[in-house]
Amino acid sequence: MIGNLAPKDKLSGASLADLFASHPDLRALCEAGEQSRIETEIAGKLFEVRFIPIRVREERTGSLFIFADITERKLAERELIRRATTDGLTGLGNRLHFFEKLHEARETCRSSGMPISLMVIDLDHFKSINDRYGHTAGDRLLRHFADMLREAAGSAGTAGRIGGEEFAVFLPGMDGHTAFRLAEAIRQRVSREPMRLAESGDGIAYSVSIGVAELQGSGMTVESLYAAADDCLYASKQNGRNRTTLAVPKA
Ligand code: GH3
Ligand code: MG
Ligand code: MG
Repeated sequence: MIGNLAPKDKLSGASLADLFASHPDLRALCEAGEQSRIETEIAGKLFEVRFIPIRVREERTGSLFIFADITERKLAERELIRRATTDGLTGLGNRLHFFEKLHEARETCRSSGMPISLMVIDLDHFKSINDRYGHTAGDRLLRHFADMLREAAGSAGTAGRIGGEEFAVFLPGMDGHTAFRLAEAIRQRVSREPMRLAESGDGIAYSVSIGVAELQGSGMTVESLYAAADDCLYASKQNGRNRTTLAVPKA
């Protein structure tokens, strides 16, 4: 018995079309008539299905399906991928994953002629927050900010943790001015809303500095887009922190 696909009492006399009624991928294997292998989900479990057409003197006389339950292996693989791509503290994508996704998004935007913008965010004077409230509270603040950033980016962008207290968001389809307004909304929300400590109810006030850049032309690489946003972040720091700077396109 494979999940609820083939309960024993229903096997005899059933055609493959009946048996695979709710599995068009399995039906397609059978109809194509070529030896092949797919992975598919049946009743919440993952199976590797090997299909071998049986022929007697060139004439198709039957079909052999071999089902192997690979649920545990696949779940273990997914968990490994999750761990390799996710930042353990905040649950956001890690630096490597973020830049991989940014490269992919840049290609999609390039082929469809859409803009793409990047914001780079650094928590101001974070060392003094650790020093004053302790490393555990610092960790909690990083999680708190990450949750807010994920929510603020919503479906418009993808957020990642690209360093200790450095974050970034890429925004496919968004021009620099719109990204700047979103970044300002994030910055202002941070400076308005200190993180409340559950135990004491005290608030930890903090601020962020942000740099924003829009990809310019088809020749601009992801690396130069990041450098442009990072230069603007540096300018925000130089100009007093708790501010956002938008890259001016080079003429
Ligand atoms: P500034 O924002 O003031 O322009 O300078 P900066 O980025 O160079 O340095 P900052 O004072 O913000 O300090 C960064 C600190 O962030 C250093 C490190 O101890 C702390 N940090 C990095 N990762 C973590 C972490 O995962 N948890 C905690 N609690 N602290 C971290
Ligand atoms: Mg920093
Ligand atoms: Mg900092």
